[in-house]
Amino acid sequence: MGKRILLLGAPGAGKGTQSKRLAEEYDVEHVTTGDALRANKDMETEYGTPRSFMEKGELVPDAVVNEIVKAALEDADGYVLDGYPRNLSQAEYLTEITNLDAVIYLNVAEDELVERLTGRRVCSECGTNFHVKFNQPEEAGVCDECGGELIQRDDDTEETVRERLSVFDENTAPVIEHYRDEGVLVEVDGEQTPDEVFEDVADVVDDA
Ligand code: ADP
Ligand code: ADP
Ligand code: ZN
Repeated sequence: MGKRILLLGAPGAGKGTQSKRLAEEYDVEHVTTGDALRANKDMETEYGTPRSFMEKGELVPDAVVNEIVKAALEDADGYVLDGYPRNLSQAEYLTEITNLDAVIYLNVAEDELVERLTGRRVCSECGTNFHVKFNQPEEAGVCDECGGELIQRDDDTEETVRERLSVFDENTAPVIEHYRDEGVLVEVDGEQTPDEVFEDVADVVDDA
């Protein structure tokens, strides 16, 4: 059985960047609710479309997200889960449907998060993350991996970023405390270079 890894952190902490590398290194699925929701933004649910929540930086209703995660984890032989759980009720649901081998929290200060998110650019074809200052592509606006066009996510504007960070403080910070209280949380300094962060994260996974 592949490793079951939960990567926690605020928006912009580097979850996507590290998850991609973990999925390759440990040959597990990258399960990310953000990407899954973006791929189904206009799906009609009884609560409205995911887009209507995501544009405002609010959480998409638990029922919608829980369903996505359950299906994805059922199909996976090992995974790195990124972007979920984002509140205590999702954390409870996750406990019902799976066991975790490692729970890692990427800790990054708020000022740094804002700079990372507003400077983030993503490939419109393959989803790879870049940054206008910290992780520049070889050619501006073009993906190193696949040649796709780099775009700014519509929720990476300063105003929506502030809202997402306040949603994090209110809803997701308690999730981190919950795993800390259970004694399973390992904290990693997310302000190091991406390579250094990966080394620390991989050490935790290797010990799990
Ligand atoms: P980031 O990587 O910057 O934290 P994500 O791609 O994970 O952003 O999430 C983008 C948006 O998708 C969130 O602001 C939220 O609206 C929605 N979303 C993602 N995951 C969840 C979740 N587990 N529960 C509710 N909403 C979610
Ligand atoms: P998350 O998935 O947690 O929202 P991302 O992995 O998308 O975070 O990273 C957010 C932005 O910060 C991206 O533009 C990414 O290139 C950049 N980034 C990721 N890790 C680091 C790091 N260790 N140092 C500086 N910038 C980083
Ligand atoms: Zn690409």
